[in-house]
Amino acid sequence: MPQKTAIVTGAARGIGAATAKRLAQDGFAVAVIDLDEQACSETVSAIESAGGKALAVGADVSDSDQVTAAVERVAAELGDPVALVNNAGVLRDNMLFKMSDSDWDTVMSVHLRGAFLMSRATQKYMVEAKWGRIVNLSSTSALGNRGQANYSTAKAGLQGLTKTLAIELGKFGVTANAIAPGFIATDMTKATAERVGASFEDFSKAAVSTIPVARAGEPDDIANAASFFLDERSGFVSGQVLYVAGGPRD
Ligand code: NAP
Repeated sequence: MPQKTAIVTGAARGIGAATAKRLAQDGFAVAVIDLDEQACSETVSAIESAGGKALAVGADVSDSDQVTAAVERVAAELGDPVALVNNAGVLRDNMLFKMSDSDWDTVMSVHLRGAFLMSRATQKYMVEAKWGRIVNLSSTSALGNRGQANYSTAKAGLQGLTKTLAIELGKFGVTANAIAPGFIATDMTKATAERVGASFEDFSKAAVSTIPVARAGEPDDIANAASFFLDERSGFVSGQVLYVAGGPRD
């Protein structure tokens, strides 16, 4: 079977980097997209030194022209992208009364507009191939989280986008699913600890005390779920939201 190409956004570090590496192990050629192309080189080198194929691409997923150019470059240099993990994300946490217009707009742009633009730009390759996989990174914050009016709205919105993509694209052999991680140890959760004025150790301890499996999540926990959704054999699983949080969520 010819090698399939996957795109992972925000893959310079954290969950995206772990997912890109895992998908390469699974046999995909992987486009590693992040804001700064240079920052993608670590993920790309790790994939290449393990014998995989990868390409670093710098693009802001919230910018339509950059998304078009990035996806065209992936198609030309790596192969038509038939799998997409919309992982790029930012936080602009604040209590509602202190949240600025730009805190709101930035989070909506990266998470929602970014996932929309990337999905729209890649779907044509998937429809043409009559095979495709889209995974959106939601969050347990979609259920509501203090200080995250913008982020929780965007993450809930991504669940709606996921279900609609599943309905529209299903007949072309394309599935769309969402992963909603709980507490995962990355730079993003380190930034949250900083915002609330706690050390990362104390912040993690407090989080872990509420997690049934009694440990923090790791980027590989999410990469594993993405690997499942992208698997050839997962073609009948679509429109689902999988909470990967070490315990049940509503
Ligand atoms: P992270 O370590 O902060 O990594 C996010 C990556 O996205 C960074 O490399 C960042 O680049 C990149 N990025 C930001 N804006 C971008 C844009 N406009 N275009 C392209 N790339 C962009 O975050 P993470 O913890 O791995 O989270 C990954 C995803 O999982 C996010 O969608 C997040 O909301 C979600 N999630 C995380 C957790 C958790 O506990 N960590 C829980 C639930 C959901 P820069 O470094 O240049 O900013």
